[in-house]
Amino acid sequence: MDCSKCGGRAFYARRYSGESLCPRCFDESIVEKTRRTISKHGMIRRGERVGVAVSGGKDSLSLLHVLHRLEARNGGSLVAISVDEGVAGYRDEALKHAAEASVSLGIEHSVVSYKELFGFSLDQALDWKDEEREVSSCSFCGVFRRRAIDLAAERAGVSVVATAHNLDDYIQTFMLNLLHGDVARLGWMDPSYADGGFAVRRVKPFMEIYEEEIALFAYQTGVPFQSVSCPYMHEGLRTEVRDYLNRLEGAHPGIKNVVLGSALDVISRYARAEGKASLRCSECGRQSSSPVCGVCRMKSSIKQHVNYTG
Ligand code: SF4
Ligand code: ZN
Repeated sequence: MDCSKCGGRAFYARRYSGESLCPRCFDESIVEKTRRTISKHGMIRRGERVGVAVSGGKDSLSLLHVLHRLEARNGGSLVAISVDEGVAGYRDEALKHAAEASVSLGIEHSVVSYKELFGFSLDQALDWKDEEREVSSCSFCGVFRRRAIDLAAERAGVSVVATAHNLDDYIQTFMLNLLHGDVARLGWMDPSYADGGFAVRRVKPFMEIYEEEIALFAYQTGVPFQSVSCPYMHEGLRTEVRDYLNRLEGAHPGIKNVVLGSALDVISRYARAEGKASLRCSECGRQSSSPVCGVCRMKSSIKQHVNYTG
C-alpha cells in the first residue's frame, strides 16, 4: 500500500477519506489539521501565550508536542499546566510524564494541586458514600479541575488554555447534553465562545481529530504516557454513547465527522440565540452560570460530610 501523499510505504488507512498514509505524512497531517482547526475557529491569536492543560495521558502529551511544533509559526509561547487532584498511587506517574515532556521540549511547567487550592485532596473529598453525592465522581472532580485550571492560568499569566479534547470527546459531550436534557449547555460548547463561563478562554485544538488518530500519533511520537485509569473513573452513559458512535463509524466511515458538523451548526445557532449569561458567584465572586458557583456549592457539601483541615 502506497502513501497517497508521497508514494512511500503507507502504514495507516484513513477510512473516512480513503487516503493511505506513511508515518511522516500521517504525522504532518495531524499537525496541519490542528493548525487549520485553530485558525478556522480563531482559537489562538498571533503571538499569544498559551496554557496547555497536560494531564500526562496520551492526548494531552500529543497536544503539547503539536502546539510546540506550531508555536514557532505562531510566534507565541507555551506553558504546560498540570493539576494534581490528589489521588494516591495514580497521579504521580502522570505528573512525571508531564514534567519530563515539558523539560524535553523546553516548555515551562506549572503544577497546582487541589490540596493547595481548595484545602483537600480528591481522595479526601470523595471519602463519603457515593449515594449521598448528587453527582458522579468525575462531575464532582471536573468542577474543581476547571477552577484549578483557571487559577493556574491566571498565575501563569495566560488568557487562553488549550485542552486535548478530541472529536470523539466533543461529539460524545454533545450527545450527552441532549440525552441529559441539558440543552442550555450547548451554547458553552461553541468553539469560538469567548468566555464559556470561565475566567480564561478554553480552546480545543484537537476537536476535529478522531481519538484513534491521536492515539496513533502518540504511539508514533514515542512519548511515554500514563495508561492506567483513575480509580474513581465513572463514565456511565458516556461509555455507551462512545460504543454506539464507534459502531456507527465502523459501518459508515466518516459519520463522526458528519455528527461533528451537525453539532457545530446546532451549537452555533444556539449560542447566538442564547447570548452569554454572566453572573457572579455570591460567595467567591467568580464568573458563574448560577448565583452560587459549582465550586462553592460542592465545597460546602464536602464540609458537611468530610473532615479536612484546609
Ligand atoms: Fe477526576 Fe474522574 Fe479524571 Fe479521576 S477520572 S481525575 S475522578 S475527572
Ligand atoms: Zn463561587
